[in-house]
Amino acid sequence: MLSIDADRLRRAFDTYSEIGATEAGGLHRLTLSEEDERARDRFRSDLEALGLDVRVDELGNMFARREGTDPDAEPVLIGSHLDSQPYGGRYDGQLGVLVALETLRAMEDADVETRRPVEIVNWTNEEGARFQHAMLGSAAWVGDTPVDEALAITDRDGVSVEEALEETGYDGDEPCEPHGVHAHVELHIEQGPKLESLGKSVGVVEGVYSMAWMEATVHGEADHAGPTPMHQRTDALTAATDAIDRVEAMPNDLSSDAVATVGRVSVDPDAINVIPSRAEFTVDVRSYDDAVVEEAVDRVQFELQTACDRVGAEHEFEKLWHIPHTEFDEGVVSVLDETASDLDIAHERMVSGAGHDAKYVSDVAPAAMVFVPSEDGKTHNEAEFTPWEDVVAGTRVYAEATRRLANES
Ligand SMILES: [Zn+2]
Repeated sequence: MLSIDADRLRRAFDTYSEIGATEAGGLHRLTLSEEDERARDRFRSDLEALGLDVRVDELGNMFARREGTDPDAEPVLIGSHLDSQPYGGRYDGQLGVLVALETLRAMEDADVETRRPVEIVNWTNEEGARFQHAMLGSAAWVGDTPVDEALAITDRDGVSVEEALEETGYDGDEPCEPHGVHAHVELHIEQGPKLESLGKSVGVVEGVYSMAWMEATVHGEADHAGPTPMHQRTDALTAATDAIDRVEAMPNDLSSDAVATVGRVSVDPDAINVIPSRAEFTVDVRSYDDAVVEEAVDRVQFELQTACDRVGAEHEFEKLWHIPHTEFDEGVVSVLDETASDLDIAHERMVSGAGHDAKYVSDVAPAAMVFVPSEDGKTHNEAEFTPWEDVVAGTRVYAEATRRLANES
């Protein structure tokens, strides 16, 4: 068993948490910001202190490899992301990178030899907060998003990914494309309440939900809020809110794991005394069952149509994005499961409702994830918290499973 140094991990966690720390104990470290640059510099020097060469690709993804005994063997890839949400928490992303770093340090301490190399990664722009494409670095790496397209995305101030990479000095010259990977494991906080409610320290993640994003636009007629009688109106917002109401009640009819969210609403002309002529809203639906998500998409269209018919409004409907569920690799999943059992750590097989870099990596390599609990399921805010004993339990499983995977033939 590979033994980790929990105190050293704690020190690393505290040190990195100072870079972009907020007053309320959170983290504000948007991708390729000055804070992210400092975290990356620190990560680079920590890897160099282990005698490793750090490689940076065109998208700023950082890699470093601890060699194995077989020079031809493909590596085990470990890591996550160092960027955070605006005023986000200290655990999302950074914990997965630091646990991977601790895994390398523990291997070095114990002079562990593995057949395969172990390679660590920090993905660029997982959060999609500054540049709106979540999991950008890993999506580009697997070829899902063309590199040129990724580099051209701009933030609110018009700064492109390419310019931000140059500014921070993380415009690397390695091609952003997958090299052979034997297996990939990412540790992440659960971001939901399940592990805590079960009283378990570790989630062995078997897959990721199917998701669909939609946009609905209702066209009514603008009129004066005073003289226009109620029965003569074609109020776009009335139809929209009616549809939204039904969309939010819809998951109950579909499956116990289905969720539906209306996250954005806009109204035109957006004036206090004018009946809305146009209302637009987005819908995000998820379930592990692809058929449930497909049915949900149909249901959203049906509810929209029905609500518009009731007030005599027209509508448009667009499906913006739709991905089937991801099943992680059963081989990697069972190594995690067996390792947790061997270490006598309470664990549970589960699926993820949120997307992660490992989801993209699983397009090109066998992958799986380790979850640790999120107190009250809270995430993407400064109150994010994971009890330290669970972090340690998750790290022990992660480190030992990495060692086992790196010794596979
Ligand atoms: Zn994350």
